[in-house]
Amino acid sequence: MGRDDVLNEIFRIKQKMVDAQKRLLAATLQQTNPTLYNAMFKHISTRMQPMRFADYHYLIDIYVDKRKRKCIKSSVQSGKTEYMVIDHLTKAEKGLAILYVLPDNDLRNRFVKNRIEKMFTFVPFYRDQMMKATGTSKTVGLKHYGLGTIVYAGSGSPNQFKEIPADAIYADELDQFNFTNYAMAFDRLSSSPHKLITESANPTVSDYGIDEVYQRSDKKFWHLKCPHCNQWQKIDFFTNIVYQDDDGGYMLYDAEWEEGCKRDIKVFCTKCMKPINRLDPDAQWVAEYPHKDISGYQISKLFSPHNTVQEIFEAFSLAQKNQSKLQIFYNSDLGECFEAEGSKLTHEILNRVKGDYIFPKSSEGPCVMGIDVGSSLHVWIDRVWEELEQLIWAGTVREFEDIDELIKRFNVKSFVIDAMPETRKSNELCDKWPMIGKSCRYVEGKTEENMKEKKRAHEIQIDRLQIMDDVMDAFLSKANMLPKNADTILKGALYSQLCRPVRLFIADKDGGGDGRFAYTKGEDHYYHARVYARLARLQLRNFKFRSIKLGGGNGGDANRSATGGNRFAVPANLPPHLKKLWESQLAKMKDGGRPQS
Ligand SMILES: [Zn+2]
Repeated sequence: MGRDDVLNEIFRIKQKMVDAQKRLLAATLQQTNPTLYNAMFKHISTRMQPMRFADYHYLIDIYVDKRKRKCIKSSVQSGKTEYMVIDHLTKAEKGLAILYVLPDNDLRNRFVKNRIEKMFTFVPFYRDQMMKATGTSKTVGLKHYGLGTIVYAGSGSPNQFKEIPADAIYADELDQFNFTNYAMAFDRLSSSPHKLITESANPTVSDYGIDEVYQRSDKKFWHLKCPHCNQWQKIDFFTNIVYQDDDGGYMLYDAEWEEGCKRDIKVFCTKCMKPINRLDPDAQWVAEYPHKDISGYQISKLFSPHNTVQEIFEAFSLAQKNQSKLQIFYNSDLGECFEAEGSKLTHEILNRVKGDYIFPKSSEGPCVMGIDVGSSLHVWIDRVWEELEQLIWAGTVREFEDIDELIKRFNVKSFVIDAMPETRKSNELCDKWPMIGKSCRYVEGKTEENMKEKKRAHEIQIDRLQIMDDVMDAFLSKANMLPKNADTILKGALYSQLCRPVRLFIADKDGGGDGRFAYTKGEDHYYHARVYARLARLQLRNFKFRSIKLGGGNGGDANRSATGGNRFAVPANLPPHLKKLWESQLAKMKDGGRPQS
């Protein structure tokens, strides 16, 4: 045997030892952490690639995290959905019953077809697990996989959360959920010994959706150690990359960087101000509250090698004069919440429109009424004063017949009732009160101006976003008034339901710049009752003109004001607090255009 042969033999033996070690490691991993094992050895992504943790240091800890409840508040394209996909399939493979929830059925269908079913077809390991499964189901919503089952649900339909037992819930894009329905999902875990919950989303506004869960978690953030001064620090756009100068403009700490200089923008240590490596493989998750039960992660694009700092900085620069773009930057690039002005009603805003009165027992009116239809009827009655609307009764009644009594007691001149879900009963109520009753449907694109009466004489249609904005504006501009005990009446439900809808910018799933605004759905009946009362008010305006032309009308204040004269005069006989409010309202309107807060 020559020298080369000996060397070759040694090399072969060494190689065998490395292979054996690899196999041993894999076998151990398969036992101790099947999710990470599947990710590394079985999974192939939609881009037909295996998982490469070299690019995603921050994901490794999430994969090995064995806490029962986890939340991931994250920028787009962070790898969080890939993790949830691999983890839920691994848990199903071992025999768990999975409930995987997406915002609505449409997104659910696309997710199952484009992602899950494709993997079942193209990835050999997943295909085998499908073949092994005991049951067969061809439906989008139910899959038998390995030893377990997976239900894919849209949070929009309550039926999907009833009666199916589950061991693990996965919630993807939590901020777009219908939380009334989603709340029922947790009951499904009650008889399981596992009770696993993983929630993730691109955040929207603070204390809402994923941020609300993250705030209750141990709040982990990715920390770097400065190689120069050893300071551990959060890597943050506003402390490591930009600062605000005296004029309020943002400047880069990296003063030497300029466009076209052929290197990325540097990231600086907050203590010694020397450059640090944002992709340092020794970076670590550091929890702010390590004793908390929920394991929470916040992920920013700054942790990922797939984005340059320049790209992130450019997105920030372009967003400076545009609230929507700024919201996308915070939510999608930094994984942070963003509060646009007027994105949500708050107790503070509602307290500002309190007047010095409580609900009267009855009213001579003229009043308008809005009715939101659910398991009970949520009613909102406003006394109408020119441009102002004063809440004089709110509450729930059980039967449609109870509405008649309220109409009489408060001299209701116009009402609008939700056309859904009890369309027949809503129609009957309108037929009973043909001169004053309308039913309403939300139809996208119907503006106040082109709000038309459709098919049935009493049905009106309006764009949900527009009319909900209109109600928001009325509160912000103090164009309506609440009683002095508004925060405590109805056991606090009036305030909590008014504060429920959040105006969100929903970015395209593909991460593109386009998207749309929408209000969230949930336990918000009084907000919609207020919307319908607002629409009833707009109907009353038409009604008034008609009745005057016909020589009708009953001589109430609404008619008196509509007969002309100075439309911008303060009406007589107002209680002092209302007079003051009225005057301030007029002062604003004279500044031109719509009243502003
Ligand atoms: Zn330093």
